[in-house]
Amino acid sequence: MKQSILKQLTGSVERCTFRADEPMSAHTTFRIGGSAALFCLPETPDALIALLRFCRGEGVRFMIIGKGSNLLFSDKGFDGAVISTAAMDRITLDGTRVCADCGAALSRVSAMAAEADLAGLEFAHGIPGSVGGAVFMNAGAYGGEMAHVVESARVLFGDRIEDVPAQELRFSYRYSALQESGGIVLSADFRLVPGKKEESLLLIRDMDARRREKQPLDRGSAGSFFRRPKDGFAGALIEEAGLKGVSVGGAQVSPKHAGFIVNNGNATCEDVLKLRDLVVRTVREKSGIELEMEVRLAGDL
Ligand SMILES: Cc1cc2nc3c(=O)[nH]c(=O)nc-3n(C[C@H](O)[C@H](O)[C@H](O)COP(=O)(O)OP(=O)(O)OC[C@H]3O[C@@H](n4cnc5c(N)ncnc54)[C@H](O)[C@@H]3O)c2cc1C
Repeated sequence: MKQSILKQLTGSVERCTFRADEPMSAHTTFRIGGSAALFCLPETPDALIALLRFCRGEGVRFMIIGKGSNLLFSDKGFDGAVISTAAMDRITLDGTRVCADCGAALSRVSAMAAEADLAGLEFAHGIPGSVGGAVFMNAGAYGGEMAHVVESARVLFGDRIEDVPAQELRFSYRYSALQESGGIVLSADFRLVPGKKEESLLLIRDMDARRREKQPLDRGSAGSFFRRPKDGFAGALIEEAGLKGVSVGGAQVSPKHAGFIVNNGNATCEDVLKLRDLVVRTVREKSGIELEMEVRLAGDL
């Protein structure tokens, strides 16, 4: 079945690479996850559209991933097609506007803007996501967020491509309307302001240093595991509940930053979910606050 689908796909979708039984631990920053039956790397929007049409026509389930930096992927993997945007990564500059394809790394977009004397995207340099994933999540840090800099996004709805102005993306804290509409970001236009390369690079270096000091960047993780609650910070609540450093299997509440759950090398998705349950339960008992996941669960659970 899988082999025949792979053969059909290779014959009918051009400019796309396919792999069978691809371990998702290799495509997520948590370094966790079983295999995807099919792993697809379209190089152009046309290839992506053809691929999606094929999947819908053949009843093949699919999901989109960027850099896999906000995902906790199931140990069972995914019996369908994981479509990675990694091969769609062009970035172009035109005056104060930067247009970046969905798969472009935020760090690259941010660095290119700074080099071109454009200010506004410095905050994004240390976020290890893609443009598509960042727009989908309204990623942000150090007072900046996608909502402040995205002018519009080119989005695929079924077979239809639409230029969606930022207002219609309805950005709010780690939210965009794409989380409900299921639209796929093909590219985003960022509207920046004239700046000075040296000042932007200084800001970037400062924010990167603060990250290295506070965050467990030497371990697999998906960043802040929980959403920021209305009152307080998840990390502080977890620390106050006495959970800093607590482990389940290979998963651990980071001893460096309690808001991160880290993979100490051999963690499974199940370990992380058991640790999540322990953290949510204990914080609820101690503070009455209900923590919610910011990291997104993916694959067959
Ligand atoms: C060490 C570390 C630090 C982090 N720091 C921050 C931070 O400071 N601020 C912050 O906000 N986040 C942070 N994160 C989380 C993460 O980097 C962001 O959420 C990022 O925006 C996710 O982008 P991605 O490409 O990795 O998306 P993925 O994890 O691949 O996907 C996330 C979601 O986006 C969807 N998606 C991906 N691409 C597209 C697309 N083209 N169209 C539609 N949907 C798409 C996926 O289906 C999935 O539901 C951090 C993560 C790590 C590991």
